[in-house]
Amino acid sequence: MSNIGNLKEVFSSMVFNERIMKERLPKETYKSLKKTISEGSLLDLETANVIANAMKDWAIEKGATHFTHWFQPMTGITAEKHDSFISPVGDGSIIMEFSGKELIKGEPDASSFPSGGLRATFEARGYTAWDPTSYAFVKESTLFIPTLFCSYGGEALDKKTPLLRSMETLNRQALRILKLFNSPAKRVFATIGSEQEYFLISEDDYAKRKDLILTGRTLFGAKPPKGQELEDHYFGTIKPKVLEYMHDLDEELWKLGISAKTEHNEVAPSQHELAPVFSMANLAVDQNQLTMDMMRKVAQKHKLVCLLHEKPFAGINGSGKHNNWSISTDTGENLLDPGKNPEKNTRFLLFLAAIIKAVNEYQDLLRVSAASAANDHRLGANEAPPAIISMYLGSELSEILGAIEGSYAYSAKEQVKMNSNVSYIPEFIKDTTDRNRTSPFAFTGNKFEFRMLGSSQSISGPNFVLNTIVAEELRQFADILENAKDFEATVFALIKDTVSKNKQIIFNGNNYSDEWTKEAEARGLLNLKNTVEALPLFVAKKNIDLFVKHEILTEAEIYSRREILLEGYWKVINIEALTMADMAKKAIIPAVYKYLDALSESTLRRQKLSLVIDFSYDIELITKISNLKDKLQGAVAKLDKNLAKAKDIEDAEPKARFYSDVIVKDMQILRVYADELETVVAAEFWPFPTYSDILFR
Ligand code: ADP
Ligand code: MG
Repeated sequence: MSNIGNLKEVFSSMVFNERIMKERLPKETYKSLKKTISEGSLLDLETANVIANAMKDWAIEKGATHFTHWFQPMTGITAEKHDSFISPVGDGSIIMEFSGKELIKGEPDASSFPSGGLRATFEARGYTAWDPTSYAFVKESTLFIPTLFCSYGGEALDKKTPLLRSMETLNRQALRILKLFNSPAKRVFATIGSEQEYFLISEDDYAKRKDLILTGRTLFGAKPPKGQELEDHYFGTIKPKVLEYMHDLDEELWKLGISAKTEHNEVAPSQHELAPVFSMANLAVDQNQLTMDMMRKVAQKHKLVCLLHEKPFAGINGSGKHNNWSISTDTGENLLDPGKNPEKNTRFLLFLAAIIKAVNEYQDLLRVSAASAANDHRLGANEAPPAIISMYLGSELSEILGAIEGSYAYSAKEQVKMNSNVSYIPEFIKDTTDRNRTSPFAFTGNKFEFRMLGSSQSISGPNFVLNTIVAEELRQFADILENAKDFEATVFALIKDTVSKNKQIIFNGNNYSDEWTKEAEARGLLNLKNTVEALPLFVAKKNIDLFVKHEILTEAEIYSRREILLEGYWKVINIEALTMADMAKKAIIPAVYKYLDALSESTLRRQKLSLVIDFSYDIELITKISNLKDKLQGAVAKLDKNLAKAKDIEDAEPKARFYSDVIVKDMQILRVYADELETVVAAEFWPFPTYSDILFR
């Protein structure tokens, strides 16, 4: 199966990581690069020249002929522009060259990326700047250099810049708190492990569906006789062809230093999941992008297609991305590890209080960070968390906080042994709390799991929001505690006060229930049902103040990002609507005509025999199909008309709202008629593979 001889040698073999740097760089150069990486000090050009040269030699040994500045524009995917190392020397020969300048700065003419008004196309200058904290790697004969992407005026045009800025802020504020607890830590960083869900389908089926090709999801498709109701796919045995794919994918990811670890079948048929071992936030963001890229590429080799869309099939669970998030120190401590006696772990409780306050005060930003046209299909549809942000802490932590708030003593829980009542099965200690799969933001032992993210989205957005909102609360806490006369008493009062003012965000029950929606409303929690409802809150004053204060985004950058999100939203729906109308007109309606012809012919021929036959079923079927066809044509005409209206709306916000209120509804109606037709038209006449064909082959 696996042709990997020595996994240890293969792992990270294509990454210019610390081990290689140490091996390949002169001592002084390595030291100043380390200083840049750990302390954020500026790198001089001389050092950059030495690093560039070593990088180039290493990359050429790995088979690279080209290099690229690799960046993450606002499209949510990655971008690259390749240059070769070749440099002619005048006598007709060439040398392979790569300078420090080329490493540090690039200038792609990248004027066509979304900038949300931050620059006009005539102001095309955009720069890519090397991020020395993320590792360069070789892939497809090219040296990839992770970079940031900004405009001539210095505004961030990418997903990575605010993330790095937020990491610095979190570091600064968390260190202030740690100092008060006499911690020796010099650096604090967020750690992320993102569980990636995806669908695998056959290349043949994919090629026959224009909707999958153009939009990544099926716009038509009746419910198959079998869905996921038997719950026989989740954690089920993995089919041999899928297993081959997974092993191949693992190998490719391991080479890039991505520790793909857990793979299993998910709830929906043909759905799977991959989880890596967590890493530092900036690396995790790069690695998740690479994972998505590799998932697609490796699938091609296996004549499969990997669908990363949030909702490829209606009526069947879609795909998300669980974002496991914690904060760690350079001294190897996980600050969200409660330890054996959380009730006595003041530092942990203080960080926990900061997170509770952050999630409560910035529910809107967390919601915005997961908003997209595609994710609108999942949130609140009883397969993913509702659109309401709340936190799950579990019984133990909730009881501890309850005791602090009520000023009574907490009696620690006895550790309970798990007994299977089978004599030879070893006993083990049970976790002190159960899990809750329905919560959007759940404490899972020593980290939080933010579960709203869509499968295809960059994890940068949700994490720069998380880092920043937690940093803001830590800042407020540090301001109070640094001036406290009686530290112990002040900390205790602070935790108590914070919990008491923010406890409405804590909910340990079933988030999928209708009662919760009602209770959440009574508690005053936000319920931003879709992208268009959520996005305006991005620019709420308190949110602008937050980002500006911590120098994560300027006001102009925030507005531009909202513009890009709104535009992205209506453009996605516009493409879907056009594809739907096209498929209806060019594939479904012609197929229905053909089938109606065949039915009518057959009926007429039999009538000519002048037998005493009852034709009522024939007539009924022809009438039913004919009526549905008419309704479908009517729905297409209505959609076309409204799409023409949408064209005339100039501003992004009303335009997005029109798509959400009108076009999405038109599409839903159109689909109902088409899907009903699918159930009555003979299979050989139906123009593309159905859900049963695609999902259960
Ligand atoms: P669970 O059973 O809670 O889902 P797993 O061990 O399967 O836990 O982990 C799920 C994901 O969470 C993995 O990607 C894992 O690496 C990640 N993870 C574990 N610890 C941390 C941490 N301290 N910070 C961030 N992510 C973490
Ligand atoms: Mg999990």
